Amino acid sequence: MALRLHNTLTRSKEVFTPIEAGKVRLYTCGPTVYAPAHIGNLRTYMFEDILRRYLEWSGYEVTHVMNITDVDDKTIEKAIAEDRDLLEMTESITQRFERDLATLNILPAHHLPRATDYIDGMIGGIQTLLDRGVAYTAGDGSVFFDISKDAGYGQLVNIDPASLRQGERTSDDDYGKDQARDFALWKGAKPADGPYKWSAPWGEGRPGWHMECSIMSSHFLGQHFDIHCGGVDNIFPHHENELAQSRHMFDTPFVNFWLHSEHLIVDGEKMSKSLGNFYVLQELLDRGLTPEALRYTLLATHYRQQLNFTLDKVRESQKAINRLKELARRLEQVPVGHEGQTILPPDDQWRAAMDSDLNISGGLGAIFGWAKELFAALDREALSAPSTGDALAALRSYDKVLGVIFTSSAHANKERIEELIKQRDKARSDRDWSRADSLREELAAMGVILEDTPEGTLWKRG
Ligand code: AMP
Ligand code: ZN
Repeated sequence: MALRLHNTLTRSKEVFTPIEAGKVRLYTCGPTVYAPAHIGNLRTYMFEDILRRYLEWSGYEVTHVMNITDVDDKTIEKAIAEDRDLLEMTESITQRFERDLATLNILPAHHLPRATDYIDGMIGGIQTLLDRGVAYTAGDGSVFFDISKDAGYGQLVNIDPASLRQGERTSDDDYGKDQARDFALWKGAKPADGPYKWSAPWGEGRPGWHMECSIMSSHFLGQHFDIHCGGVDNIFPHHENELAQSRHMFDTPFVNFWLHSEHLIVDGEKMSKSLGNFYVLQELLDRGLTPEALRYTLLATHYRQQLNFTLDKVRESQKAINRLKELARRLEQVPVGHEGQTILPPDDQWRAAMDSDLNISGGLGAIFGWAKELFAALDREALSAPSTGDALAALRSYDKVLGVIFTSSAHANKERIEELIKQRDKARSDRDWSRADSLREELAAMGVILEDTPEGTLWKRG
């Protein structure tokens, strides 16, 4: 079986073949750092983590790039409204973002470029588009891409070319596909932008969002690479525009596979900052939910289906993980040389499911079916030692993708735990026993066991 992935460009599942044998060049659109990520955003990064981990599990060497959009309308507006320096603000939000990913055991990208470090490259790319006659300058120092010059425009989102608004243009980064029109490659500086402007041959201003991703991806991955990902809302206009301008800048197809994950929703609506219906990670951890249960919740629904987020689902996820952790613990206790039944790991089913466009439900189904058989044999003390060893090795191997069994929330969430322990120590020295107890309970819910010793409080994972 070969890995097949659903390509938005062709609207079909295609066999994945990398440009260079054995290697995958992967670009995933990163956050706009004007506010902390919400768990809807994190669902998209989780999908990309599973994709990357499964590619690595399958033997590919992956180079993963994720951009940080540290200059755009939203970041500038926020910095000015809060009277903060743009880069100080974006760097602090970026660091929080990196911590959130680490808490959820999402592998860090190999490169995390900040848009403001690549502005010269963006100016060069825009100049190429002007020289080639597919872009034009407007009176205010802005530069627009002329979609009427691009015969292939609309192929990613599947727009009827007749519906394109010829000659109309927009400076917005985001708009609907029924409003498709010439888009900004460079935005001329306005007084409201304050000091955040850069010099270009056609006037002062800043790059458009789409240009940022074309330049940062090609800088690290070359002008033609394997996979480009984002959430479905990135298909239009962001990726359509990136594709149009990149084909004209680079004379290549730009990207072979475009993959998009569906939204995380609450009460039937997309979780988003603008609707105000969002959770950030820390709020959920503060309620005692573990990083592993949140990770599992975000990964266990197939990436092309909407994920309806509920706290009940997270609690169910915790049970599923506890079962797999319990299995690992029981397997570790089987004595060496024990005779009994042979049970083979479900490698073929796992691989067949995941090869089919990352069918995670099928993959998890195979693992839980096998776990049930193993528990039954363990209960009867009837599992052979070689099967035990194979089972542990297989669990470790599947967990290279899942990342929820052989990790500890205590480890992933170390800073938070140490803070709670400090608060509990303080409550104890203040003789505030009810607060100390409630902190102990909160820690217990996170799987942390405390031991009070003369040297202070020690803790371990339960
Ligand atoms: P932004 O910071 O708004 O540029 O979004 C960062 C990433 O999160 C993009 O890839 C979006 O497609 C994705 N995203 C935004 N909202 C959601 C959501 N509710 N569910 C899943 N992904 C989302
Ligand atoms: Zn992007």
